[in-house]
Amino acid sequence: MSVIDLDKLRCGDRRALAKAITLVESTLDTHRVQAQALLETLLPDAGKSVRIGISGTPGVGKSTFIEAFGLALIALGKRVAVLAVDPSSPLAGGSILGDKTRMEALSRTPEAYIRPSPSAGQLGGVTQKTRESMLLCEAAGFDVILVETVGVGQSEFVVADMVDFFLVLMQPYAGDELQGIKKGILEVADALVINKADGEGEKFARQAQRYYQSAVDLVAHPGFWTPRVMTCSAREKRRIDAVWEMICEYRQAAENLGEMANKRAAQNKKWMQRLLLELIEVKMNAVAGYQSLRAELEAQVEAGRTTPLLAAKKIAALLTGNVD
Ligand code: GDP
Repeated sequence: MSVIDLDKLRCGDRRALAKAITLVESTLDTHRVQAQALLETLLPDAGKSVRIGISGTPGVGKSTFIEAFGLALIALGKRVAVLAVDPSSPLAGGSILGDKTRMEALSRTPEAYIRPSPSAGQLGGVTQKTRESMLLCEAAGFDVILVETVGVGQSEFVVADMVDFFLVLMQPYAGDELQGIKKGILEVADALVINKADGEGEKFARQAQRYYQSAVDLVAHPGFWTPRVMTCSAREKRRIDAVWEMICEYRQAAENLGEMANKRAAQNKKWMQRLLLELIEVKMNAVAGYQSLRAELEAQVEAGRTTPLLAAKKIAALLTGNVD
């Protein structure tokens, strides 16, 4: 891989940025080393964007919303990057998030940069690469980073952990049951936005708004922010500006209270702890005899032939070379 031109990247050159993200996404060991050095160099230039997570089930209107929202932000003079977290397999219909063909007008705009999800893989790996790409986009001067994800598995929770504001798009009430709200989502969502509030859908969107509002009211929100429930029409570009105003209000309140810096610091700490555990696991798996000893002791614990503590101590002794 040829050298990345840092000056060009800092000036927002999209080709230099794309090259840097490709380096960060590479699984080659030599590239990993180069990528970490690059990130360390650029770290002082990162961190200045507004990071927004956008989630919702397929068909809810994520790409339509991101296109309308992105273009509205660009009209306000912002530069917008769209990244995606999609750990699902391409065979299962995944990895379409952040697809340029889904956001055609936005992708043609020079002030926007759209990058699809890193290739399918473990959620941890995909999100690590997305976090690093986010830093690169910030170093390249993008003012707003939109991280798109689907409501599959844990992906929403890891995205909520890397952004300032987490927004969940919902469908209007469509005559049958309202969609259930995934367990834990109300604790991490900063806003539920019911899309497709247009034409016939407007009435159903308001019904859904009342329903979700009562669900939000039932959950305790210890922080300074109570999640908002609102409606919009991405297709007709209605109330899209209200979503941005809400996010600005959130940021203003968070900054006044010092919560913004606290939130990012806590996210970074959690990210480091997660990486540490992953690295330890890689090292453990490389120790000769570890996997077989662990399997054997797990079987013994299941069979009630040894205690969990004794088994864990034997494994720890193998890993550390200390027999206590
Ligand atoms: P995604 O799978 O979540 O990215 O959803 P899409 O953005 O591809 O939208 C799925 C379908 O919903 C498409 O047929 C869109 O035209 C439609 N759609 C998206 N936003 C709206 C909206 O605000 N109003 C209406 N009526 N339809 C919408």
